[in-house]
Amino acid sequence: MKIPLDQGLWEQPQTPNEKPRLLGSRCTLCGEIYFPRKQKGWCLRCHKKSLEDVKLHGQGKIASYTIVEQPPAGGFYRGPVPYAYGFVDLADRVRLKTLFTNDFDKLRVGADVELVIDTLYVDEPGNDVVTFKFQPVTAP
Ligand SMILES: [Zn+2]
Repeated sequence: MKIPLDQGLWEQPQTPNEKPRLLGSRCTLCGEIYFPRKQKGWCLRCHKKSLEDVKLHGQGKIASYTIVEQPPAGGFYRGPVPYAYGFVDLADRVRLKTLFTNDFDKLRVGADVELVIDTLYVDEPGNDVVTFKFQPVTAP
């Protein structure tokens, strides 16, 4: 069974042809986009309760990345090591922090990436704990 690491960050596709979408918030007054979704609905730019839920695009470009060689302290991270994480600029004009898939040699600042839902680790009863990641899009 697949279990999401966090609730409410993305929406699973309804059909095999659809792609997963991240769930964010958009300000109806100034257009500012937030990820993850702001539950209370306040725009930090307008200082008004003007946010609506929005599904974000799954494509973007790598803004920065790093490859982590040691597990972080605190035990909150249970995925494989080394791993890559960094920031992606989505086509929706929002920058978000994300893990990357383990195609380390394809990671470049400015490279095109797309959203995938991928296993982070397998828990005790044997469930796949999944989270969103971005993977480099290979040129055709
Ligand atoms: Zn606003």
